Amino acid sequence: MLKIKVAKNAGFCFGVRRAIEIAEETLKYKSKVYTLGPIIHNPQEVKRLEKQGIKTLKSVSRIKDGHVILRTHGIPLDVHKKLNENRNINIIDSTCPFVKRAQDVVKKLSSNKTTKDSSIVIVGEKVHPEVVALVSYGNKNCVVIETPKEARTFKDNRDLSIVSQTTQTYENFDNIVNILSENHKTSVYNTICRATLNRQQFAEKLACGVDLMLVIGGKNSGNTTRLAQICSCKTRTYHIETFRNLRENWFKNISTVGLTAGASTPDWIIKDVEIKVNKIGNSLNKLRRVNARK
Ligand code: SF4
Repeated sequence: MLKIKVAKNAGFCFGVRRAIEIAEETLKYKSKVYTLGPIIHNPQEVKRLEKQGIKTLKSVSRIKDGHVILRTHGIPLDVHKKLNENRNINIIDSTCPFVKRAQDVVKKLSSNKTTKDSSIVIVGEKVHPEVVALVSYGNKNCVVIETPKEARTFKDNRDLSIVSQTTQTYENFDNIVNILSENHKTSVYNTICRATLNRQQFAEKLACGVDLMLVIGGKNSGNTTRLAQICSCKTRTYHIETFRNLRENWFKNISTVGLTAGASTPDWIIKDVEIKVNKIGNSLNKLRRVNARK
């Protein structure tokens, strides 16, 4: 019998749940509702909202009027300004408060008398929308470092203020901080959010005790990708978006499967995966019984 164990806290975090609630509430009463880029990093949930009427646009120039919901990861300062300039646009801010806190830290560092001449290092993914927005708050004083390898070759004569993308792993953040602190005077601002940390810890613990881990979430979701990286250090792990990605042969000769999901993965996708894994387990069981009878 295939046993399924679901990690504590798998799925929606506070910030994502809040953004989805804001979007659904707005759709109830308003038309012409837009987001700039996907509201969260889960293609299936974004599609579900699009069916209800939200339009996901890439550029602010395409919006003449209506309601623009700012996504959980936030948007760059210049885009915010452009939206503000158009009086026919109503801005509805669903930026996660923890992302906002990181933005405030960067903003203060770049304007504070004692720190404005130091470099602001953001530990994160260069192309991630949250990081792109964070950099915009740094008054051209930011540099993004993704890996310890990059930290080792980083050269800057100034003092460093180090801030994290909210969904970094503690391990990567600590490694980079330690390397940079060898040759620079550093001040460290850990802005990794607790939801991220909890998910990572529960997923790692679960991965240690199962034969196979399934990490469910958008391939474009940074926090889901990092969960998969953490779990794959402990056991065989697959990062899937939906139950359609499951393959029966993954489950042969195993007895326990762990499930976890990124902070932007809705419950209905997790449930679908659970149901499908159960079905696969039952069909393999029948197969085993048939073989045993031969
Ligand atoms: S993972 Fe953390 S920072 Fe990101 S949306 Fe969720 S609560 Fe906010």
